[in-house]
Amino acid sequence: ALTIAIVGLPNVGKSTLFNALTKNQVLAANYPFATIEPNVGVVNLPDPRLAALAGIHGSERLLPAPVSFVDIAGIVKGASVGEGLGNKFLANIREADAIAQVVRGFSDPDVVHVDGKVDAASDLETINTELILADLQTLEKAVARYEKEVKTKRIEPAVLATALEAQKILDSGAPLSSAPKFDIEPIKELGLLTAKPFIYVFNVDEGVLGDQAALDALAALVAPAQAIFLDAKLESELIDLDPEDAAELLASTGQEESGLDQLARIGFDTLGLQTYLTAGPKESRAWTIGKGWTAPQAAGVIHTDFQKGFIKAEIVSFDDLIEAGSMAEAKARGKVRIEGKEYVMHDGDVVEFRFNV
Ligand code: GDP
Repeated sequence: ALTIAIVGLPNVGKSTLFNALTKNQVLAANYPFATIEPNVGVVNLPDPRLAALAGIHGSERLLPAPVSFVDIAGIVKGASVGEGLGNKFLANIREADAIAQVVRGFSDPDVVHVDGKVDAASDLETINTELILADLQTLEKAVARYEKEVKTKRIEPAVLATALEAQKILDSGAPLSSAPKFDIEPIKELGLLTAKPFIYVFNVDEGVLGDQAALDALAALVAPAQAIFLDAKLESELIDLDPEDAAELLASTGQEESGLDQLARIGFDTLGLQTYLTAGPKESRAWTIGKGWTAPQAAGVIHTDFQKGFIKAEIVSFDDLIEAGSMAEAKARGKVRIEGKEYVMHDGDVVEFRFNV
């Protein structure tokens, strides 16, 4: 499953945020294939289209697309050389598809800051430096190995060249994702951290959430990466309320969308994902796929047999279906298409697959 690792210095609010995420676990029970692990939290991607689909099909339940978050114990200065949690920590984030870095913006003097003062810019720099050092360490070992493998012709010279180029970028103090021309593909297997997509989560005081100038200043520290602003304490309260009360509390802080919903939505975007939809009397459901995936690949997300035995897909766009008001009417209007193996999926396609078993 696609996962986003949560990192950040100690005492920035990671656990508080993560507890809010794991209270969502009840929802994970809807996904029989998802193993529920203590350090994995799931947020549903908010998707108003599901309720509309369920209305048309009389579906008993709605299953939004899940976005998973993995909690990884705190990074500290020196993490890359084995201080704190060191290498075990780094091995864990290497597997993640993206990284969400929690940054402290709240001022509470009762909560100690590891470096003595609340300073988002300096915290960002500490983490950045550790991630760069960790990647350099990975590369040092890899380059030694690649040099031998090029000599024995076990790998293409391009692999070694890419690793050397990566070293150069990191040596200059820049993360790999900041080098627009750098292509990670030949050394993807290394799971280099600074090449992953990043989301920044600023954990700020409730009052700051309504202060646009303050938020803009924080966003500028990480641009062009996406920044999310939330109050982790508030999020953990919201999750305990029923939807109406939660909406009211949220509105009282000047926000329209909870931090967890923002995190799911922006996480989804950052990973370059989209959803297609299936609907019937039992459930209306959103399925996660990458952009540019073909119909058989999309079918494989439901079951590998659907992909292997793929014959065709019956597809109507969500908008056409809603406008028609029913599947029968959409068909009568010629809006339901039969697509084959080459079809490239669109976000919001409502699909029924035909396959051989
Ligand atoms: P972690 O070490 O990053 O996991 O941080 P924790 O989630 O354990 O938070 C450290 C301390 O800060 C705890 O006492 C939290 O209650 C407190 N804390 C977390 N988020 C906030 C916040 O948004 N505002 C305030 N005032 N305190 C917070």
